[in-house]
Amino acid sequence: MDGKKGLARDIAERLEFYRDVGVEWSARGSGPRGAGEGWKERPQPAAPRPVGRVFPQTESMFDRVAATAETLEAIRSDLGDCTRCKLAPLRKNIVFGSGNPHAALMFVGEAPGADEDEQGLPFVGRAGQLLTKIIEAIEMKREDVYICNILKCRPPGNRNPELDEIASCQPFLFRQIQSVRPKVICALGTFGAQTLLQTREPISKLRGSFIEFRGVKLMATFHPAYLLRNPNEKRKVWEDMQKIRDYLRSSPP
Ligand code: SF4
Repeated sequence: MDGKKGLARDIAERLEFYRDVGVEWSARGSGPRGAGEGWKERPQPAAPRPVGRVFPQTESMFDRVAATAETLEAIRSDLGDCTRCKLAPLRKNIVFGSGNPHAALMFVGEAPGADEDEQGLPFVGRAGQLLTKIIEAIEMKREDVYICNILKCRPPGNRNPELDEIASCQPFLFRQIQSVRPKVICALGTFGAQTLLQTREPISKLRGSFIEFRGVKLMATFHPAYLLRNPNEKRKVWEDMQKIRDYLRSSPP
């Protein structure tokens, strides 16, 4: 009975997310599931977006580590009980990352929050629950993707990451990317996107189209924590996620 209730709750939450982003069930329409019965998008005004931009990037740690793919276990082992930056004494747990080590889709957020610091896992709080719904909305499972952050330790009071912290921690992220070798990276929020792309452009300008990032398609989109405060922006994230879903479906295995 509990199982049935849990399933009903999961379905109700999925439906709520689809409704939030402007997708409705239709007996005759077509939507994410294709022709016939399925999810039907409410008509939305078209928003022209630049396509396939390339950001000029300087030589970085990514270039230096790119030639040597390692396992995630080896990278975690090398990170150890890290004291490379001033966040070390403030954390409860290092939040390295979790998910499929060979995922086609990799999410990169900013830094752990309180729940993540407590559990040692990325995106497990309210924002993480919303991220799970977003993943399921493109008919993937959370265990299909790989999720990590720019910083592996929680900044005090969830303040923004500082440059010296990013510089210390970023090489491990690049090694994770090189190890997973995803087809698509989804950068969540301003810091995730700006750090990877080495730009100061706001997330509102970066999101909406794929950006070439070291031979990988990168889609920047709003952070789930931002969506909790601004639910009207869910629609834009849904548009970004549909592009990711369509690219993954059209690319060879
Ligand atoms: S944030 Fe990164 S570099 Fe800093 S202590 Fe944590 S794991 Fe080490």
